[in-house]
Amino acid sequence: MRIDLHTHSTASDGTDAPAELVRKAAATGLDVVALTDHDTTRGHAEAIAALPGGLTLVTGAELSCRLDGISMHMLAYLFDAEEPALLAERELVRDDRVPRAQGMIAKLQELGVPVTWEQVARIAGDGSVGRPHVATALVELGVVPTVSDAFTQDWLADGGRAFVEKHETDPFEAIRLIKGAGGVAVFAHPGASKRGRTVPEAAIAEMAAAGLDGVEVDHMDHDTDTRARLRGLAKELGLLVTGSSDYHGSRKTCVLGEYTTDPEVYGEITRRAFGAFPVPGAGGV
Ligand code: AMP
Ligand code: ZN
Ligand code: FE
Ligand code: FE
Repeated sequence: MRIDLHTHSTASDGTDAPAELVRKAAATGLDVVALTDHDTTRGHAEAIAALPGGLTLVTGAELSCRLDGISMHMLAYLFDAEEPALLAERELVRDDRVPRAQGMIAKLQELGVPVTWEQVARIAGDGSVGRPHVATALVELGVVPTVSDAFTQDWLADGGRAFVEKHETDPFEAIRLIKGAGGVAVFAHPGASKRGRTVPEAAIAEMAAAGLDGVEVDHMDHDTDTRARLRGLAKELGLLVTGSSDYHGSRKTCVLGEYTTDPEVYGEITRRAFGAFPVPGAGGV
């Protein structure tokens, strides 16, 4: 069984529409795929409607969080998308992405880049707007060669010249909200040090005590040593270990199913979820 628990669609900053994403997931031989767009569940309905036989969809989202000034991401699985408290927090974060993107555009204009909100809004479509969309505009304008090249101190990296913060949830609050909505909380790419400062292990231990279910270990942004360290920490703290592609379509180099999650861990995640359940395709789990 091949299980990929972290992907993005055009509902946020991926480049495949949800229907296209599930079609590709089945075509690449995945049995289970989670759709985890940034701060939104709006891609789920389309993914469910287009779900190929044999593929199971795990509904989810990747919530933008911040602890002591360090940005981090929390994966939320199988929660009730209608539960009001988590829904309100998701909307707060997602809506704040618009003035924040406009702020980054204003900074870029001050730096002499002729980017406009109209251009970025066109690229984002109806997706939750983020830095990868602004980065795509910079690629279109010939400012940088690739999306990834826009994530430097010169441009959009945390603290970079054109960077603007957005509202981000305290991770302990996020865990409380996810649990309150019947979901399962997994700390996304906790050792992704290329993106900026990472959360210390002591804080992960506190999150484990506060109900965190797992940590994403097998991820493209973790080198071998980081994975070994995180695996050891997970064992010590009794956390589940997941693996995933963090697929973004053509905006990132990883492919669907590049890293996967152990079926036993997937089973435990579904057992822990109370709010909603995976959407089984014909012949699925
Ligand atoms: P935002 O949520 O708008 O702050 O944008 C963060 C997103 O940008 C992350 O979820 C990644 O998808 C993407 N990202 C962060 N660092 C990089 C990088 N170095 N190269 C490409 N994409 C990145
Ligand atoms: Zn993303
Ligand atoms: Fe992330
Ligand atoms: Fe992601």
